[in-house]
Amino acid sequence: QAKRAGGGDYAIFDATMHDDAVSQLTLQTDLRQAVERGEFHLAYQPIVDPASGAIQSFEALLRWTHPVRGPISPADFVPVAEEIGLIRQIDRWVMHEACAQLAQWQRRFDDPALRLSINVSAAGFVDRDFVTALSDVLDEFGLRPQTLELEITEGIFLHPSAEIAGAIGAVRDMGVRIALDDFGTGYSSLSYINRYPIDTIKIDKSFIDGVGSNRETRAIVELIVKLGATLDLNIIAEGVETQAQTDILMQIGCRAIQGYHFAKPLTPEDATRVLAAGGAAAP
Ligand code: C2E
Ligand code: MG
Ligand code: MG
Ligand code: MG
Repeated sequence: QAKRAGGGDYAIFDATMHDDAVSQLTLQTDLRQAVERGEFHLAYQPIVDPASGAIQSFEALLRWTHPVRGPISPADFVPVAEEIGLIRQIDRWVMHEACAQLAQWQRRFDDPALRLSINVSAAGFVDRDFVTALSDVLDEFGLRPQTLELEITEGIFLHPSAEIAGAIGAVRDMGVRIALDDFGTGYSSLSYINRYPIDTIKIDKSFIDGVGSNRETRAIVELIVKLGATLDLNIIAEGVETQAQTDILMQIGCRAIQGYHFAKPLTPEDATRVLAAGGAAAP
């Protein structure tokens, strides 16, 4: 069958496309039910001071265990959820769940300054009700707004700038912090920090990967860290996997790192254990 000339090849190509389309469609249907069925949960990855290993905060990362397919990466399903307009609902769930966890940790460890960041998609962030939902959830759990940080990517700047400025302004007025995620991967990263009141920059893993092996990459990372010091921005290095990278980042003056070298995204129970052990996530 595969060896039929011309048309046969086409048919095989077609069948693959058909399979893809079917699996995409199933994914969409399954995603719609996942929230109600409670198939989502959160993992928490520590963000640490590289010198002491002390935890500065956590990033909440969405996890989906599909009843048949098993775990599916957010890199695969978040874009689908965005396409079908479901990401807002999912992000709301994340916000609620993450804030509940943060409040629980703050109480349990008597540390009302313990911080957490969550990822917010562009569509959710510029949504009219977003700020209301955010303020409701902070009230519900009695959280200091300063202990919550929202991670946005440069994808958000594809929206009209008035909408973005409005959303960022409203969030900042509440006291909630804003981080620019995947920094350096977009078109004009620098212009955004010039234009919007950003608190934190997360240097994308693609730069951290090369920090030990590539002079140019190291120079760029050093420049971003210096810029952060000058502009009073918090700089976090993402995707740190080795001690060598950690050493260089410390030399450069980077004081917050996140990556498998210190800790993978943890279950709530494991994250709680790490906090109970004094908050040091030693490698
Ligand atoms: P992100 O926000 O940039 O998150 C960092 C990603 O890098 C996470 O992948 C994390 O597990 C991974 N990571 C951390 N340290 C290392 C490391 O040392 N090595 C490697 N190879 N990877 C590392 P994850 O959890 O698969 O999430 C992928 C992306 O999905 C996130 O990138 C974020 O853009 C999106 N995402 C995750 N959770 C949510 C959510 O609740 N809402 C929305 N809208 N997007 C989310
Ligand atoms: Mg993030
Ligand atoms: Mg990132
Ligand atoms: Mg990302």
